[in-house]
Amino acid sequence: MILLAASALAWDSIGATWPPESFPLTWYLQGTLPGISDAEAEAAAEAAFDTWAAESCAGLSFQNGGRLTDATLGEADGRAVLFLVSDTWGAESTLVSEPRVTTSGTEIVDADAAFNGVDYAWAVDGADGRTRMDVQSAFTHEIGHWLGLWHSTATDATLNPSLDGNPEARDLASDDVEGLCSLYTVAGSGAQGEACTDASDCEADLICLVDGTLSYCTSLCDTGGGCPEGYACFSAGDEAVCAVDASSGGGECGCSAASGAHGGVLVALGLIVRRRR
Ligand SMILES: [Zn+2]
Repeated sequence: MILLAASALAWDSIGATWPPESFPLTWYLQGTLPGISDAEAEAAAEAAFDTWAAESCAGLSFQNGGRLTDATLGEADGRAVLFLVSDTWGAESTLVSEPRVTTSGTEIVDADAAFNGVDYAWAVDGADGRTRMDVQSAFTHEIGHWLGLWHSTATDATLNPSLDGNPEARDLASDDVEGLCSLYTVAGSGAQGEACTDASDCEADLICLVDGTLSYCTSLCDTGGGCPEGYACFSAGDEAVCAVDASSGGGECGCSAASGAHGGVLVALGLIVRRRR
């Protein structure tokens, strides 16, 4: 149970995500960066997408759609394109790269990104990120934007704007993973404790509980029934729900409120019940 999760978070969201049917998401490359071969750019992109796909909490998948020559940056044409720009850079010259994500309500409908080969030198050898930008790092940063993450204040996060093009951004920090896992959750079998995004993912008598950065199917306990082992009864708004009891050793505990309490109803901030509609 993480009671004060909100204050610990550094990642940010653009307020929209791709609907599940968007995956596997097809991506394309267009253009070239000075000194980088097409094969090198493609390999860097594959590695960057693999980095995000490797996080099993989200279960996202991507596929290489190949090279394009006719796409326009920022045009919502349904094609997610990495634009390698070596002729005219349309944004501020200080920007290493620039995302263009098109949303409709809370859904992302298209995403592009441009990489500045006019004002910056690039490399694929894990360059320093100051005199030469690392292609894979910049791709990994921009793909984070594509997935709905905005800039993070965590200094080691791939989504920290100052790490764009820095080789450190090739690998996700825990902050990036927390953000991703909060925006996308793999639905499980619907049984107690399985991941969910809505009550419809859960068995009929269970609700979907948002508990810090986790969302899982669980039961209500306000009818006098107890909670399964590893869970304790917490109040969440007007309801009482069985939430993972960190004091039983089931998870990391940053709280003292839950320790020593058994059977009673505890008060926890940040629990959100998602009911069937
Ligand atoms: Zn950025």
